Amino acid sequence: MFAARYVPGQKKLSLTDIPKPKPGPRDVLLKIRAAGICHSDLHVLAGEVGYTHTFTMGHEACGEVVEKGSDISTEFKAGTLYAVHGPNPCGDCTYCRTGFDNLCNGPGRTFVGLGQDGAYAEYLAVPARNIVEVPKGITPEVAAVATDAVLTPYHAIKALGEVQTNSKVLIIGLGGLGMNGVQVALALGAKVTACDLRDASLEMARSMGKLDAINSKDLDKQVKPGSFDVVVDFVGRDSTFTQAQTFVRPGGTIVLVGLGSQQVPVISTPLISYQVRVQGAFWGTHQEMHEIFQLISEGKIKPQVETAPMKDVNHWLEELEAGHIKSRMALLPNF
Ligand code: NAD
Ligand code: ZN
Ligand code: ZN
Repeated sequence: MFAARYVPGQKKLSLTDIPKPKPGPRDVLLKIRAAGICHSDLHVLAGEVGYTHTFTMGHEACGEVVEKGSDISTEFKAGTLYAVHGPNPCGDCTYCRTGFDNLCNGPGRTFVGLGQDGAYAEYLAVPARNIVEVPKGITPEVAAVATDAVLTPYHAIKALGEVQTNSKVLIIGLGGLGMNGVQVALALGAKVTACDLRDASLEMARSMGKLDAINSKDLDKQVKPGSFDVVVDFVGRDSTFTQAQTFVRPGGTIVLVGLGSQQVPVISTPLISYQVRVQGAFWGTHQEMHEIFQLISEGKIKPQVETAPMKDVNHWLEELEAGHIKSRMALLPNF
């Protein structure tokens, strides 16, 4: 089958033909219907994550179950879409058993498409417990990107930022994640300010509802320091993390999602004297997968997705790197 694989040291994915995977006793085999491209793929290709082995990339996956392992008695409906919970938790460890399965530390665990084979392929074998039925009416491309580009901002903003009605929220970076982050915050009833360096992204954000959309270059001129209860940094560079510290209010929370830099500066005196909380955010839980699909079904979040053929994956990774993707790109395996 076709698979686009990460090879250590190579800046492009290797487009190869590999054997179709066989599901293990507790796995299902998905025929991939769509796979989203995430900026984290670029960090992997840049060598920033340090993987030393080859694997099929693609961690935003949606497909149909075409085969199941010998231990799986669940009936999966033909033609029904299933989305993959990419953190791929073990289900048995303390984190998994206490509602923090995104932090699973089960033995040998790796993430789908990040360290183990993922969705830039015709088929993907995953543990049956780590797929979620996609409600009818949601397209494969929306379901695929939802598993990260909606799940991650949902977890970051609701569970970790504790955003609620009338919270003042600053969203920094309006790409695949941030554009859905804006919608999550609006759905929670927050007062949202959104910023990015790209005017087209500001324009798209304005179409999401009532909010302020300001070019990041103009934030200093247009916003008073200490204005926001919660700042969510979907970029994670020096400049954005500094802005986050400038614009969060005393006692407020900065949620760091973006991996733009390996290190970000902490300005200690204001952080200490204003008791600002800095919160890291990683992906989301299985339970939250159900919640985001509910919100998408109700039309409260409308992920913006473009599609392209999967065999052109390297081209679209370059386009993402160049900042040419409007919001999120999903690949379709129409070979
Ligand atoms: P993306 O490329 O789709 O979007 C990035 C956006 O940030 C773009 O709109 C870009 O114009 C904007 N931007 C870049 N520099 C900026 C700056 N200085 N000020 C304001 N805006 C700026 O990326 P994405 O797929 O949304 O991912 C965002 C980041 O989150 C990446 O670093 C990715 O690796 C990371 N990520 C983290 C998690 C997690 O669980 N923590 C999950 C997925 C992705
Ligand atoms: Zn991702
Ligand atoms: Zn676990």
